[in-house]
Amino acid sequence: MTDTLAPVKARKLLIDGEPVDAASGRTYQTINPATETPICDVAEAGVEDVDRAVQAAHRAFHDGPWSRMRAADRQRILWKLGDLILEHADELGRLETMDNGKTIVESAKIDAPMAANCFHYYSGWTTKLAGETRPFNPAFFTYTLREPLGVVGAIIPWNMSMVMLGWKCAPALAAGNTVVLKPAELTPLTALRIGELALEAGLPPGVLNVIPGPGAVAGEALVRHPLVAKISFTGSTVVGQHIMRESAATLKKLTLELGGKSPNIVFADADLAAAVKGAASGIFYGKGEVCSAGSRLLVQSDIHDAFVEKLVDRANKLVPGDPMNPKTRLGALVSEKQMNTVLGYIATGKKEGARLVAGGERQPVDGKGFFVQATVLDDVRNDMKVAQEEIFGPVLSVIRFDDVEDAIAKANDIAYGLAAGVWTNDVKKAHTVAGRLQAGTVWVNTYNFYDVVMPFGGYKGSGFGRDLGAEAMDEYTQVKSVWINVE
Ligand code: NAD
Repeated sequence: MTDTLAPVKARKLLIDGEPVDAASGRTYQTINPATETPICDVAEAGVEDVDRAVQAAHRAFHDGPWSRMRAADRQRILWKLGDLILEHADELGRLETMDNGKTIVESAKIDAPMAANCFHYYSGWTTKLAGETRPFNPAFFTYTLREPLGVVGAIIPWNMSMVMLGWKCAPALAAGNTVVLKPAELTPLTALRIGELALEAGLPPGVLNVIPGPGAVAGEALVRHPLVAKISFTGSTVVGQHIMRESAATLKKLTLELGGKSPNIVFADADLAAAVKGAASGIFYGKGEVCSAGSRLLVQSDIHDAFVEKLVDRANKLVPGDPMNPKTRLGALVSEKQMNTVLGYIATGKKEGARLVAGGERQPVDGKGFFVQATVLDDVRNDMKVAQEEIFGPVLSVIRFDDVEDAIAKANDIAYGLAAGVWTNDVKKAHTVAGRLQAGTVWVNTYNFYDVVMPFGGYKGSGFGRDLGAEAMDEYTQVKSVWINVE
């Protein structure tokens, strides 16, 4: 197993452009889940640190240059940050792989470029934000302005730290807001490094503050802080619900990107080789710790047996390996706790009557690590726990359906609505089903594709608001109506 390469230095909080210790002096260790060894100490933000960070962001917004800077200058800085992330993609990739256990291919070749792309794309929006004139009465000159909100609190999960940072911070900053970013406590390292790169790119102090710390302490303090105008949250549905309740007292604008249990539907008329590949990568990419994972595979009864046989073959070939090895395609789960949750769900599925047809076990690499085999549970009914609850690991639940109506009914019979996949060669069926699925994103004859141009977010229990695309700019701006009496 490739160990942690060069030692990683202890990390401080990033507040007002400076690395600082937590006010309490507390630190915690972040652990490499593939080797089970500590990577480094990280300062642990508490309530006082959140307040320091918010005050710094508030000053940077109200007194500082960011919201008053020429849009073209903000554009240049954000573009530069995108460039720096790309230039440091290998370093950031290694940090993320150490922290999260995902493969180096995912972290260096996909996550880092996706984050960079967000800064490049949204840098263009700095100069495109516009209000409108609304001439309806000669007595008035009337127009609208689109203005930033102020301090944005961004709270992100551990599964895609760099990507989530880009999704939240790039549009928030492009609109002229300042940001306090709380990365997940399990994966703070790339966020802290990108915070440094942002300063190098020319972001003024206080505009982007990074404060790792426990969700129930640092996250909660950010949600309650009266000077925070908006919380942009990505994480579990249960924490999202809690945040919604907690932010009511200060009436914050919210974006909630929550969990998913997405149906990936294979019709008998699909290109089956492509669908098998898409079904496997839909769940096993990112070790299944992906919000949009196609974790419920709905297969039409006519092709079920042949399809599952091919799928099992594919799953068996996907073995866990050293995440630092560029050839590895299945890394370690993020923590021992997450691994135990996933193994617990596999046991529950078996107890509920599902048939384990691939994987199902922990499989250490070189005797270490929180690795779980690519797992397929067949004969799952849609009312089982493994069909209804988000497992967030490499576990696929296979459910049969009979026809289009049955597929749509089963796909929508769930609390979540983040994403869905449809595999068919019938274009009419593709459009009909895509239109009737209750999901924020539908992929047809493909799965898990993202681009900064396309909005992403949930229906139903998967939350509300949109990351990415032009839509994200609405999440970080507010509209002012101005009336000038010209008579
Ligand atoms: P989580 O909800 O436990 O934590 C997410 C973040 O919220 C972390 O930074 C955490 O510290 C913080 N947090 C926890 N308790 C808090 C509180 N009381 N107040 C404020 N902040 C608090 O989620 P996780 O386990 O880190 O991530 C996995 C979850 O994220 C899954 O449910 C997954 O589906 C979801 N996710 C969703 C998307 C999406 O775009 N919809 C993307 C990635 C992950």
